[in-house]
Amino acid sequence: MAKGLVERIGIEGSLITHQTNAHQIQTETEIPDHKVGIKLVVDALLSPDHGALASLDEISAVGHRVVHGGEKFADSVIINAEVMETLHACAGLAPLHNPANIIGIEACQALLPGVPQVAVFDTAFHQTTPPEAHIYGLPYEYYEQYGVRRYGFHGTSHKYVSRRAAKMLGRPLEELKLVTCHLGNGSSITAVKGGVSVDTSLGFGTISGTIMGTRCGDVDPAVIPYLMEQTDLSPREMNDILYKQSGLLGISGVSSDARDIEQASNAGNKRAQLALNMLCYLTRKYIGAYAAAMGGLDAIVFTAGIGENSITIRSQICQGLEFLGAIMDPEKNRTRGKEVDVSTADAKVHILVIPTNEELMIAQDTAELMAKR
Ligand code: ADP
Repeated sequence: MAKGLVERIGIEGSLITHQTNAHQIQTETEIPDHKVGIKLVVDALLSPDHGALASLDEISAVGHRVVHGGEKFADSVIINAEVMETLHACAGLAPLHNPANIIGIEACQALLPGVPQVAVFDTAFHQTTPPEAHIYGLPYEYYEQYGVRRYGFHGTSHKYVSRRAAKMLGRPLEELKLVTCHLGNGSSITAVKGGVSVDTSLGFGTISGTIMGTRCGDVDPAVIPYLMEQTDLSPREMNDILYKQSGLLGISGVSSDARDIEQASNAGNKRAQLALNMLCYLTRKYIGAYAAAMGGLDAIVFTAGIGENSITIRSQICQGLEFLGAIMDPEKNRTRGKEVDVSTADAKVHILVIPTNEELMIAQDTAELMAKR
């Protein structure tokens, strides 16, 4: 009925975008915190001019994306006091995200008293990974005492596209082996076997795996203390380098945006070419590793900003995967933002482009929980 976005909360130039079938409205206004943001969303939904609802009574539940559910939540959940307590407890694991998610939930509770709130976790889909895939080779007590393990992220997206992939292939999800590549500013690659996540490239934090816009991807951990000692960096400064100054940006020195990197690479910029080659090589390596982890592969799925839109990057990733039976049809691959099977008609392993839809997945999970109540 409507969709929208609140951006730049707490910084200059904050704005709300609100869209219905008939209207698209963008308003620049001061949005000092998430509470004000939520209030603006509700106002936009109820607006007599361009709203989608006549009254708040029409809202029967609210679904929230929550980044970190720790080990407590393997599924979406209706929020109660106990859930809230656990969310607070998980805040240390996702200091940038969970506190904001909590504010969003509390703001909705205040504006819509008595309306059920549902939490849909980015980590939940990966709770099915076996211990050998999610425990690190560190002393076991760090897992027990501090929760240091692989959690994985983008779960809502991986879950959504794996379900769509089964529909596209016309086969039961339970019998499929998929590698889903969520490639955006943040990226993760997941092995989905029988509909559940069995391994994923993001881990304890959101920096491992393939290189991302500004995040480093897999780095030998020995590098971190070495660099900290050599350059006198504090943990916070080191973190900043790993999360914000690395990846496509750090290698190319050009930009964190894949479109800029492609452009610079085409113009002959060697470091942009290297950044692009690394993104494609590392992603291909994960696809191969996960095919081995699952003992086979039925389809590779591309989603998110880069996966849905970059014809060149998809093509370069798949070069060399022919031995697995994944053969791309270059004509079919000339597509953006649509569900398309871009493999050749006789390819043993399908290559699918599937636009992700995390909002829909959150809405479906919320509706499902409400129906079960
Ligand atoms: P986020 O992780 O922030 O949700 P997105 O999924 O929106 O990110 O992905 C953003 C990335 O997608 C950027 O690197 C952007 O350059 C890339 N992208 C978007 N459109 C295109 C395109 N047409 N060609 C290549 N890359 C694209």
